[in-house]
Amino acid sequence: PARPVYAGQLPMGLQTISNIVAVSSCKGGVGKSTVAVNLAYTLADMGARVGIFDADVYGPSLPTMVSPENRLLEMNPEKRTIIPTEFLGVKLVSFGFAGQGRAIMRGPMVSGVINQLLTTTEWGELDYLVIDMPPGTGDIQLTLCQVVPLTAAVIVTTPQKLAFIDVAKGVRMFSKLKVPCVAVVENMCHFDAEGKRYYPFGRVLRFFVVQQFGIPHLFDLPIRPTLSASGDSGRPEVVADPQGEVARTFQELGVCV
Ligand code: ADP
Repeated sequence: PARPVYAGQLPMGLQTISNIVAVSSCKGGVGKSTVAVNLAYTLADMGARVGIFDADVYGPSLPTMVSPENRLLEMNPEKRTIIPTEFLGVKLVSFGFAGQGRAIMRGPMVSGVINQLLTTTEWGELDYLVIDMPPGTGDIQLTLCQVVPLTAAVIVTTPQKLAFIDVAKGVRMFSKLKVPCVAVVENMCHFDAEGKRYYPFGRVLRFFVVQQFGIPHLFDLPIRPTLSASGDSGRPEVVADPQGEVARTFQELGVCV
């Protein structure tokens, strides 16, 4: 996709990356990190060079969801840059690999730390950098979006009636920044039992997303024990079961970004 008009100067560390995709949600716990990680490994499986930046300072999930041999980021002392760690060919940077305890910081400090970590990393040549955004649409998110020339955004939500308000907030933030919102993922949308499909939260969101926001793609992800188990085991579902229903959904999402 075409890069949106980007006012600032492109930070050095990001100059060798072709596409930067933000995976965003308004609330925590809706499956944003699950989507970010599985999307990244799907893109890698499709042959792309991929990195994941886990921008969640307060609750980094990447260290649980993947299992790199080297769980600490290394520094290049001469260039004062950060060398990402790696798992199954995907480059990884997260506060959870920074070797410190949980951060107690105020908003502006958080923004500074996120931006520094992101832009001083030696990402090398990448086709895609997937950013697991901090949840919400506040200052931290806005600042991050202004530093990074995003090429696409994916919004993750759960399908309750009220969730369309969350989607609206996300769409508004990205449209202010002229970043195309290419897809919404409705996570935990349905489950299958005894040969039947159940939609415990109804299907209202689908209508609103298509009607009101004009987002071209909407994906359902089921509630699946394997999705949470694979998240906890350090092996993403799309890696553990590359032919499964979830992997197929992520392949379709991968084509959109
Ligand atoms: P967020 O990044 O939005 O905080 P996570 O991706 O960390 O959310 O997901 C929160 C928890 O829910 C994790 O334990 C994850 O494994 C689990 N989870 C996410 N999506 C699903 C799903 N579709 N089915 C089952 N468990 C899920």
